[in-house]
Amino acid sequence: MNELKITSITKKYESKIVLNDVSTILSNGITGIIGPNGSGKSTLLKIITGLLTPDYGSMSYKGNTINPQSMEWRVKIGYLPQDPGLYERMTAYEYLDYLLILSKWKNKQSRNETINELMEKMNLTSFENYTIKDLSGGMRQKVAIAQALIHNPSVILLDEPTNNLDTEERTRIHNYLLEISKEKLILFIGHIVDELSSLCSTILIFDKGKLMYKGNPEKLIEIQKEFIKEIKIPLKINFQKIKETLKILNIGQREDELIVHFDSRFNDYPGSSFSKPTLSEAYQSLIFSNQINR
Ligand code: ADP
Ligand code: MG
Repeated sequence: MNELKITSITKKYESKIVLNDVSTILSNGITGIIGPNGSGKSTLLKIITGLLTPDYGSMSYKGNTINPQSMEWRVKIGYLPQDPGLYERMTAYEYLDYLLILSKWKNKQSRNETINELMEKMNLTSFENYTIKDLSGGMRQKVAIAQALIHNPSVILLDEPTNNLDTEERTRIHNYLLEISKEKLILFIGHIVDELSSLCSTILIFDKGKLMYKGNPEKLIEIQKEFIKEIKIPLKINFQKIKETLKILNIGQREDELIVHFDSRFNDYPGSSFSKPTLSEAYQSLIFSNQINR
């Protein structure tokens, strides 16, 4: 079992605190990370990889302090950056082979089998001899994901991996990650909140550098549902005025009425009733509560 313990990680840029005393223990399975832009998600992954050094705090893996710059740690982790740079002139196959050689995989046949197997799982086989610069955005993104997985790392750090992917390809990547997640510790920064609900056993929510929530998606829905209400507004009523008074989480339309979900801690509305939120609504209302508490 992998276990990654993060203790009091703090990172500042001049006086700006980007990560504020973050502590957590992670283990196997897919842990989703979400938070508004600038909340420190990518910074946390860069610190785990050793690309950035924290101002304070430490990390341990299976009980041993991590030296993030060591070769020993490097070979255990696979990392997909938010803006991956690839070797444009190589083919996808050559690139993955090159990375395995760098990871000291000496046996050509075992490299070949490993690359072919991963390419097949990711539906990249028919593109393996394309030069990377000639691939579409989605295909490049899959090569970038493959780059993070090819050397069979135990700890996999993925910064918005499904950006650029269409629904089918996204599902394929989800399924592959779920397949390997029993033996791997996977940290997955998500872009769309609802993407994480079926994928992740645990989610971490960041806001302004603080870890605001850690737990399963259902528990967050349970916690936030006592605040979230629904009103039905006939289309013929002027909604604009009502809109200004409410902290709206979601608006849907059914026949001749609008179904509005809102956070009732800011303002209530006559005739509204409590309603079970989606994960995305629960997430937004948690971020709103961080605004109230300030
Ligand atoms: P996220 O991935 O959650 O969108 P990041 O971790 O990329 O957020 O960034 C967190 C904050 O750190 C942002 O406000 C960003 O502007 C700031 N930041 C990142 N890199 C630097 C840097 N080199 N110098 C100053 N501020 C930075
Ligand atoms: Mg980011």
